[in-house]
Amino acid sequence: MTDVVKSYPPSEKGGAPVVAIDNVSVDVERGDVYGIIGYSGAGKSTLVRLVNGLEKATSGSIVVNGTEITSLKERSMRAVRGDIGMIFQQFNLFNSKTVAKNVAYPLEVAGRPAAEIAARVAEMLAFVGLSDKAKNYPDQLSGGQKQRVGIARALATSPSLLLADEATSALDPETTSEVLALLDRVNRELGVTIILITHEMDVIRSLATKVAVMDGGQIVERGDVFDVFAHP
Ligand code: ADP
Ligand code: ADP
Repeated sequence: MTDVVKSYPPSEKGGAPVVAIDNVSVDVERGDVYGIIGYSGAGKSTLVRLVNGLEKATSGSIVVNGTEITSLKERSMRAVRGDIGMIFQQFNLFNSKTVAKNVAYPLEVAGRPAAEIAARVAEMLAFVGLSDKAKNYPDQLSGGQKQRVGIARALATSPSLLLADEATSALDPETTSEVLALLDRVNRELGVTIILITHEMDVIRSLATKVAVMDGGQIVERGDVFDVFAHP
């Protein structure tokens, strides 16, 4: 991102526009685990929504995998989004679909052949350690298991970038460690770049290599995790 501004229009009651992202430049490189930390309202979610094109920047430039996305039409944006996986605080699984069907979903949307989908679903469930849960429904899983399904679904189409928005914030500390260990394997074994949004410093400490601290829509500090957190 270079000099990105995102302002939301004033509410119906009037007033000033909300500047959610205030002239942010940030460079995430392939293979990074890049942490974005900040309090509620700092602009973290907006930043992520700009990267996957769910929000349009008011000004500035955003390049994802070599493609400048700020002026893309929706159809071209879908192609860029195909190379981005996303996981969420509340997992966002389909409760009426089995675990296998949840993981299969993005492959079905992409129109992959049934045999390829079956093989890929099996592969992803093995990777996250849930092969024995393929026929279960999300309601029958623990929070940590649900997020592992979320990770399997996010990576089913082999994206090169994973956006994790408060992905461990609904989990207890032990389960958080398990999910962070899995994300570490996603980065190291699959080579997936991860942008990790969180309000928890421990999450950044245990997984990220680089960190940007956001406040009021700006990056107020950034660098290697060790350096940034060595001088609190
Ligand atoms: P964070 O993820 O760090 O909590 P957000 O990106 O959600 O921060 O919000 C940043 C600012 O933008 C906040 O002031 C928030 O109220 C505002 N905001 C976020 N989404 C919208 C929206 N759709 N319309 C208007 N204001 C918004
Ligand atoms: P349906 O019976 O409606 O196809 P399933 O949940 O049985 O729903 O299958 C969803 C997808 O996951 C299918 O592509 C299927 O081939 C695959 N699948 C089903 N069970 C497993 C399993 N145990 N391991 C791996 N893939 C599976």
